[in-house]
Amino acid sequence: MRAVVYRGPGNIKVEDVGDPRPVKDEVLVRFVAGSICGTDLHFYRGEWTNIKVGQIMGHDACGQRVDTGERVALIPTIFCGSCKYCLHGKPHLCEKRKIASFNANGFFAEYTALPERNLLSIPDNVSNEEAAILEPVALAIHTFDMLQPRLGRWVTIIGQGPIGLLMTQVAKLQGCRVIAIDLEDYKLKLSERYGAELCINAKEEDPVKRVKKVTEGGSDIVVEAAGRKETVEQTPFLVRSAGRVALIGESRGYLNLGQAEEAFFFSSLPTPLDYPTALDFISKNIVDVKSLITHKFRLVEFEEAIQTAANPTKKPIKVVLIQ
Ligand SMILES: [Zn+2]
Ligand SMILES: [Zn+2]
Repeated sequence: MRAVVYRGPGNIKVEDVGDPRPVKDEVLVRFVAGSICGTDLHFYRGEWTNIKVGQIMGHDACGQRVDTGERVALIPTIFCGSCKYCLHGKPHLCEKRKIASFNANGFFAEYTALPERNLLSIPDNVSNEEAAILEPVALAIHTFDMLQPRLGRWVTIIGQGPIGLLMTQVAKLQGCRVIAIDLEDYKLKLSERYGAELCINAKEEDPVKRVKKVTEGGSDIVVEAAGRKETVEQTPFLVRSAGRVALIGESRGYLNLGQAEEAFFFSSLPTPLDYPTALDFISKNIVDVKSLITHKFRLVEFEEAIQTAANPTKKPIKVVLIQ
């Protein structure tokens, strides 16, 4: 079968590989659609190296069960169900965890074998492309579960890529006031459409100054979704004392905690438990992933697809792959 294989930074190829052979509780799924994530770009640019050479990439996708023909969304975290984390309702932290495209083969291949509990049946009104953008929705739901914002509080979201834009949508669902920060006006236009009250282009003005002024001293909540060390380092300057900071895009970088007295800082990972809710939110139009799609390529055109996703002059938000 054809698959997208990681060969090193800047070197990701569509290759012929052996078909997967499902074992005991696994089901064989034929690829239908997938989407490129910021993580794939980190791997492509060589910024993250926790992927092994020869691994099949991709962790946000949907497909068709080979046995029943049913359309299914794929959950990338494979968990044991019996370790202390699984038993405490945190399968995303499972001691025996495998995550597609990190330490298990990913979904950008003609066929994938996955445990049946990692498959979610797709409602008829959800398109293949939409069902291939579940991870950022699940991540935003889980992050706001952890943040527990109160009504009317300020949430500053750094980075308005797909994850940041979904954070903006979920923050609005929670009744928060959103400040969106990005370097690109075409992304901030969407932030505004999703209800951000203030959009700051950090190329044009100092976000720290503006946020401090508007929020009268600091944002109640800050979400780092730009995936850069510089923006991680900015978070203590944006949050108010005893506020909360979620580090989503990147967790490396120096945190000057003298600037953020008694603030909470944490990282967050998507959990399989939120994927059904994410799919339901899309089906009921509670969140919008369709408007994030800016480019579509066939799976075999992956190299062009990731070059596009990595090129700001093409104005990419979500680059989707189809069969
Ligand atoms: Zn991802
Ligand atoms: Zn476990």
